[in-house]
Amino acid sequence: MSQHTYEPHCPFCKIVRGEIPSSKVLETDDAVAFLDINPVNPGHVLLVPKSHHSNLTDLPDLTAAHLGALVPRLCRAVQAATRSDGFHLVVNNGRAAGQTVDHGHWHIIPRFYNDPVHWPWPHSQYAGDELSQIQGRIERELNPPSSDA
Ligand code: 5GP
Ligand code: ZN
Repeated sequence: MSQHTYEPHCPFCKIVRGEIPSSKVLETDDAVAFLDINPVNPGHVLLVPKSHHSNLTDLPDLTAAHLGALVPRLCRAVQAATRSDGFHLVVNNGRAAGQTVDHGHWHIIPRFYNDPVHWPWPHSQYAGDELSQIQGRIERELNPPSSDA
């Protein structure tokens, strides 16, 4: 009996439980990595927690730490196996960022010089005090004032 949370309509939960086929490359007690069915480049791997969490911000710290600790070894293996020149480690979080499967996951996407993938993203510039305003807002979110003050 699995202790992992499960969403019956989620394709990645089905892959975790072996209910639909996948090409797994790594499995631990709490994580699975398998080949993306529609790769950006050959060797495109998805790393997922076994428990269903809609997106990365819902992951418990220990689960996130476990998956994060797998990333360097997994990326080394993908890069060596595909002889890629580099790779992207990407999370699409939320529809606005292109997330299509609501079971949080990391993409490891091999990159090759002269491959057809479009990169980089366009970069912009901050205006006025916008940079320090945003810095302050994020810091306050991370360190909210104590409620018993
Ligand atoms: P997202 O757009 O949510 O960041 O990424 C979802 C990824 O999952 C896509 O790249 C898509 O190709 C892949 N994917 C969706 N369904 C399946 C599936 O059933 N099996 C596998 N191996 N990959 C899938
Ligand atoms: Zn799921």
